[in-house]
Amino acid sequence: MKNILLLGATGSIGDSVLDVISQNQDKLNLIGISINSNVSKAKKIIQKFNPSHLYIEDSNSFNAFEKQPELKLYNNKKGLEDIINLSEIDIIVSAISGFAGLESTYISSRTGKTILLANKESIVAGGDFILSEAKKFNTTILPIDSEHNAIFQCLPPDQDIQDVKKVTITASGGPFLNSDLSELQKVTKEQALSHPNWSMGSKISIDSATLVNKCLELIEAKYLFNLDEKYFELVVHPQSIIHSIVTYLDGSSICQLSNPDMRVPIAHALSGKNRLPLDFNALDFSSLNLSFQEFPKDRMQIQNLAREVCNVGGLSGVIFNAANEIAVDNFLKGQIKFTEIYDVIFRTFDISIMSNEMSLDAINQMDIETRIKAEKVVKSIA
Ligand code: NAD
Ligand code: MG
Repeated sequence: MKNILLLGATGSIGDSVLDVISQNQDKLNLIGISINSNVSKAKKIIQKFNPSHLYIEDSNSFNAFEKQPELKLYNNKKGLEDIINLSEIDIIVSAISGFAGLESTYISSRTGKTILLANKESIVAGGDFILSEAKKFNTTILPIDSEHNAIFQCLPPDQDIQDVKKVTITASGGPFLNSDLSELQKVTKEQALSHPNWSMGSKISIDSATLVNKCLELIEAKYLFNLDEKYFELVVHPQSIIHSIVTYLDGSSICQLSNPDMRVPIAHALSGKNRLPLDFNALDFSSLNLSFQEFPKDRMQIQNLAREVCNVGGLSGVIFNAANEIAVDNFLKGQIKFTEIYDVIFRTFDISIMSNEMSLDAINQMDIETRIKAEKVVKSIA
């Protein structure tokens, strides 16, 4: 039996993880969850899965859970460290959205346990710093972002990295694939949130619509697989069936296919030697019609900026990520237009202000400073 701590349990990835657990109750046990403030959903999860540990980020929501002797409650920084370090835990799922997930991913990287990583922003911002902590503490990081899980399945850790010619990360293209950037000025929040293939949290849905999600994934992949950005190509594949492709020096290309369903990469990462059985819709290969196209030319500027982040490293990922989070947040609040998300990122991004120090404090400080700068850019636009 593997004991699982699910961080960000009330979100979209949380739902998929819980479904995989409920289909494999003889092998997987939900021992703890962390939530922000969604009390009603947390109560439903607790009723169904009976975890013994609950971390609550929002102190106003804490009282809603008092007087439950079988449930140990945690909050504050010390509580987060305590719950993540519980000796009974085997697997920590990092499924909080955005930079808010960095602290718990960092603490988890120092446990020697296994992390299932959905929270790409913590790798984009924390990069080599988090990965070197994981190495130091013998912590295993298994990606569950579908593209990275696909690369992981096609490029297992014992495969010599020198054998790789290129890695192709696929992108659905999001809801605006067939529109020119110049036509997207008046896009509404609802249009931007309605992804053609995946049902996800609001932040990643907007990232998919701008294609910034693919840029974050490029940076995430560069760090996770320790490959230079020039090895990666980003290709649009509107059906989201092939999740990534690894091409080797001998001409073989190996890819991973499944319907767009996050339970598939999650089940893979949760499985040991044997695959976990899952009730899923099998692909009907005779009716598949797979197509590929170039990354939209009018959105290459943002891809190029992500490539610069890969090459510069250090805290540049913090700047890219924080500028994007502020831009997305302001778009969702109706403060800026969809296309202005790019303007906020470009006008905020400035690596000349970057220190070389990589520490949790330096990352947090750069995140705060970048958010202040990005909010000023938003004000100047709005
Ligand atoms: P979501 O918004 O649906 O869920 C995030 C959850 O985290 C929310 O329930 C929120 O209340 C909770 N949360 C926020 N701050 C918290 C805190 N400090 N402590 C505990 N919980 C907190 O987002 P999502 O779509 O599930 O995405 C989660 C992460 O997974 C993101 O980094 C995203 O990029 C990544 N991801 C998601 C998908 C997907 O299909 N949804 C696919 C690939 C990667
Ligand atoms: Mg993805």
